[in-house]
Amino acid sequence: MSVLPRISYPPELPVSAARDEIADAIRDHQVVIVAGATGSGKTTQLPKICLELGRESIGHTQPRRIAARTIAERIAEEVGVELGDLVGYQVRFTDKASAATRIKLMTDGILLNELSHDRMLSRYDTIILDEAHERSLTIDFLLGYLKRLLPRRPDLKVIVTSATIDPESFARHFASADGTPAPVLEVSGRTYPVEIRYRPLVAEVDEEGEGREDRDLFDGILAGLDELAGEAPGDVLVFLSGENEIRDAEDAIRARNLPGTEVLPLYGRLSAAEQHRIFDTSRAPGIRRRVVLATNVAETSITVPGIKYVVDGGTARISRYGARSKVQRLPIEPVSQASANQRAGRAGRTSDGIAIRLYSEEDYEKRPAYTDPEILRTGLSAVLLQMLDLDLGDIADFPFLQPPDPRGIRDGRELLRELGALTADGGLSRTGRDLARLPIDPRFGRMVLESKRNGVAREVLAIVAGLSIQDPRERPLEKREQADQSHARFADPTSDFLSLLNLWNHLEQRQKELSSSAFRRLCRAEFLNYLRVREWQDVYRQLERLARRIGIPAGEPKVDPDGIHRSLLSGLLSQIGVLDQRSAASGRDKGRRSAEFVGARGVKFAVFPGSALAKRPPSAVMAAELVETSRLFARTVAAIDVAWAERLAGDLVKRNYAEPHWEAKQGAAVGFETVTLFGVPLVTRRRVQWSRV
Ligand code: ADP
Ligand code: MG
Repeated sequence: MSVLPRISYPPELPVSAARDEIADAIRDHQVVIVAGATGSGKTTQLPKICLELGRESIGHTQPRRIAARTIAERIAEEVGVELGDLVGYQVRFTDKASAATRIKLMTDGILLNELSHDRMLSRYDTIILDEAHERSLTIDFLLGYLKRLLPRRPDLKVIVTSATIDPESFARHFASADGTPAPVLEVSGRTYPVEIRYRPLVAEVDEEGEGREDRDLFDGILAGLDELAGEAPGDVLVFLSGENEIRDAEDAIRARNLPGTEVLPLYGRLSAAEQHRIFDTSRAPGIRRRVVLATNVAETSITVPGIKYVVDGGTARISRYGARSKVQRLPIEPVSQASANQRAGRAGRTSDGIAIRLYSEEDYEKRPAYTDPEILRTGLSAVLLQMLDLDLGDIADFPFLQPPDPRGIRDGRELLRELGALTADGGLSRTGRDLARLPIDPRFGRMVLESKRNGVAREVLAIVAGLSIQDPRERPLEKREQADQSHARFADPTSDFLSLLNLWNHLEQRQKELSSSAFRRLCRAEFLNYLRVREWQDVYRQLERLARRIGIPAGEPKVDPDGIHRSLLSGLLSQIGVLDQRSAASGRDKGRRSAEFVGARGVKFAVFPGSALAKRPPSAVMAAELVETSRLFARTVAAIDVAWAERLAGDLVKRNYAEPHWEAKQGAAVGFETVTLFGVPLVTRRRVQWSRV
């Protein structure tokens, strides 16, 4: 055992005060749950307690990369060692751990990946699963895996930390064989009152939560900063949904030249130097307050020092699977009440504080109490894909905290088969392995893989990014016609996907030519929601990076509608339909009900009225979504040549032969072939000839 430096604990932290009790619990139990308010010292102090208990190799996981690194730095500093020595960290692309490392910070994703070559987790004697309340899919996988591993690793200690949200669920999950729950230690320290002020951006919010306008968000922030400038001095933490919003807010604040104000962004892809400025509380001469613009990383993972005021934009990017649309999206959504309260709480750590919410109290009251765990927000095809890739065994036997619904599992497996992700024996095919590398909806992932073959990756990535977010095209009630006219400039008569691509190309071009404020004005004039446009670009950039990593570079712009549509079709094989001729004829007669399509397994659907294809329906379409409202509607559609599906579907197609007979002239057997996919006719009465071999 190496010689330990003398370890001391910051006396003001609740975890320091409870450290004997915590140490006893860890010594006496295999699993301990530590719950406590943010800033209690769980993350920074627990590993030190473990070290003093003689634990030799502590794996300490964080949901976010930026947190793993800053926390490793902080612990190394507190212990007084060089980073990478006794205390190290590993995140994707960076490994700052060595043979001497006894506390290794890492993202939970790194630990999950280590399982594939170290199934017993033999290199650790202690795992600290931090921020378990986040309940990402990764955390749920680790919780399940650890539960199964514990009896086979009696020497392994597990410490699960959580904000004060429902720690008992973890305690029950890790109950011992006789049903005794794991011990829960509460370590919340004192907090100060925070005054909540509601400063909504828009007077009315419609039932879909819409009504936000870009102008208002940044104005709201500026108004909030003005209001707070009149209060006692103190630093401000502003919560925003993502990198682009942060950069835009930064521009807006700088443009105002607020005297004595320093603006600091905080998001995942910042350099280490930029991150350090957050924790460096010394200030340049003349600086009276700091304004930190952060994503929800500052909600519970990272405690920004010196905060007395919070401005909460009220949103975050939350990946979500649409129960109706069956598509995984990355929408920016209102955060839950728990998150909003957590955010407000950041203002009350060292003294009284104020939190300004840029939404109304009614809006807050309507929000869900908690964010659902990711497993309930994710399509089970994606969960299955990850489990197969990580070799976690049968999903039905896996000890989940909350097991997924069996019917969803069946549908998920079905979809994977449709996408060609499975081998005959139910394992992952090569396509499946590649899909698992793309953390997006598997249908979208399949499109991206196919785009490589067709040399249209850039185009498909732009379309997929567009499909992942809420449509940026706005149709305000009083200006609907104007808006439609403006959007019609991009409309392609045979493909809503190409319309989306035309819009993307237009925006990319104009953004290059214009200043950021002029671009913002352009968006408004063209009835495009600026924030969503920025979100689109954000998602595109993320996808582009992910695709590049698996050998699919975006490439140069290319005009190849067929190539694009064939790529898209690879992910939508069960969402094609052929025009029902009878309905088309009767529709013309009556001039009422729009034409009907017959889709997979006999479903009937119509093209959504907003589509460019609704008026003149082609003979066959594919749809990005089938959504049930008053009837089943296909949303975002394109005309296709159904014959494309024959090759893409491979073994999924069914072939029937009719009227085989001998034709003397040919000297061969001849017949007619019918090809169907999920019951949709792709080819009818194709003449085939069998020659003697
Ligand atoms: P918890 O995990 O319970 O939220 P932490 O262990 O993260 O608490 O934080 C405990 C204290 O350490 C907080 O007061 C926080 O401000 C401080 N702290 C954490 N990381 C840093 C850092 N990199 N620089 C300065 N202070 C830090
Ligand atoms: Mg923490």
